[in-house]
Amino acid sequence: MNRLDTLRAALAALDRNHLRRIRRDNERPCSPRALIDGKAYIAFCSNDYLGLAGDPGLADALAEGARRWGAGAGASHLVSGHYTVQHHLERRLAAFTGRERALVFPAGFMANCGIVPALAGRGDAIFADRLNHASLIDGMLLSRARAHRYPHLDLAALERLLAASDAPAKLIVSDAVFSMDGDVAPLRELMALAARFDAWLLIDDAHGFGVLGPQGRGTLAEAGLPGDDAEGWRLIQVGTLSKAAGVAGAFVAGAEEVIEWLMQKTRTYIFTTGSPPALAQALLASIDLIEDGDARRARLAALIARLAAGLAQKRWKRLPSRTPIQPLVVGDNAAAMALAAALMDEGLWVPAIRPPTVPEGSARLRISLSAAHALDDVDRLVAAINRLEDRL
Ligand SMILES: *Cc1c(COP(=O)(O)O)cnc(C)c1O
Repeated sequence: MNRLDTLRAALAALDRNHLRRIRRDNERPCSPRALIDGKAYIAFCSNDYLGLAGDPGLADALAEGARRWGAGAGASHLVSGHYTVQHHLERRLAAFTGRERALVFPAGFMANCGIVPALAGRGDAIFADRLNHASLIDGMLLSRARAHRYPHLDLAALERLLAASDAPAKLIVSDAVFSMDGDVAPLRELMALAARFDAWLLIDDAHGFGVLGPQGRGTLAEAGLPGDDAEGWRLIQVGTLSKAAGVAGAFVAGAEEVIEWLMQKTRTYIFTTGSPPALAQALLASIDLIEDGDARRARLAALIARLAAGLAQKRWKRLPSRTPIQPLVVGDNAAAMALAAALMDEGLWVPAIRPPTVPEGSARLRISLSAAHALDDVDRLVAAINRLEDRL
């Protein structure tokens, strides 16, 4: 066997284990109404929680941004690819999250896998929730710091690991809302541990920004963090601009010197071309919509309640999530795939999530809701799932 044969065999193994991923080419823009190979679906797949990705006002802002700023940035931010509109966006994000300063990245993945190594290096220690997003895990591996992964949300285990560590720099890292379970980290308790053990706390609020907290300011704002004690500098928050904000990119926010340090040291910021400035113009409009988005968030809450109340859950289990990420755990990979396929037949598009994205034996439907859904969309989904639960 040459190397190509090895790949062929590995791909065949993915098929056998129901692990091969496929892409579908949607003929319509992002919204709950998808069109694939000419067939219409109601989609419950996106992270577009407020329904902003297809908002005509944002598309106008993007078009206006492109007319004003052109298509590309031309260079990395620290060379010459940084523009006033991006400066304004960073000021707006800092004010919106109540932090001293913010720095915008082209993607959340790049933010996380660059920021972690900028905060902890060889000889230091990182303490990470086992269910953290892949970008945080990769950042941890890139850092060469000692990696301690604690069981999901297990603060007692985290405390023991912190107490046993004599690393010069300690960094606790957690998702705020976990992307495959939809549950929320105990942020105040994490902050207290960070203060007690003199650690940094990096919180990735990819799924909470725009959705949770007053005016959608995020999961940390909901928890009253950083608070007004003298420990707030420890808290570094990442938010994505690609999910509820409906555009692309991410930001990190925190204390002035911390953000300055990250700008100086984060390789995924320094060695990549700046985001197109037109995106910043669209994002400024998006933050306005998020801030004024209580009606969208109320609609989302009503949809979540409708789904939770409707699912029969005879064999399958909805995880206790209050966020728009609503997982229904089926267990077996093939069963989860069969359920997703049966729903597709009925015009309902819901992704099945399998290992390695989730732990072995916990394959699931990841239902994600958007303010752009109608109650009737949720009712159709619930009826189909309940029927299939009896039949499959
Ligand atoms: C989606 C996601 C990211 C990556 O953000 P992108 O902007 O899509 O690159 C980071 N962290 C979490 C928890 C996510 O869900």
